[in-house]
Amino acid sequence: MKNEIAKAIQYKNCKRCGKPFSTILDYNICPDCTKEEERRFQRARDFIFDNNSAKMDEVIEFCNVTRTELTRWIREERLVLAEDSPLLLPCENCNTPIHGGRFCYACKKKFYAPQGTAVPEPDPSNEKMRFLSRK
Ligand SMILES: [Zn+2]
Ligand SMILES: [Zn+2]
Repeated sequence: MKNEIAKAIQYKNCKRCGKPFSTILDYNICPDCTKEEERRFQRARDFIFDNNSAKMDEVIEFCNVTRTELTRWIREERLVLAEDSPLLLPCENCNTPIHGGRFCYACKKKFYAPQGTAVPEPDPSNEKMRFLSRK
């Protein structure tokens, strides 16, 4: 058992700071940098919470985060944005501005419908989806 764990440990250089570290998970970033990113994420989240109308550039400047990070957090829906937030990303299929994920609701519906997989209707109790059911 011990041997299997030893075999699973991977030695890598951190993609961000270049420091060597070991991991049994598929991480490319060392624990220090992960913690540091977590701090930036929390700073950005708090800033956006307090400043609903903050634009992408303002968040980047005030929170000292990179555009790549900010975009990723929005894509991953870690950052939950208000429906009137100016932080928008284009749907990867049709460029409709969206507040999270990769595709807009219309595209998701289109993608999943042919396979017979029902896309759940927007839940009115879900803050993020509210604007979709207002029609
Ligand atoms: Zn690092
Ligand atoms: Zn779309």
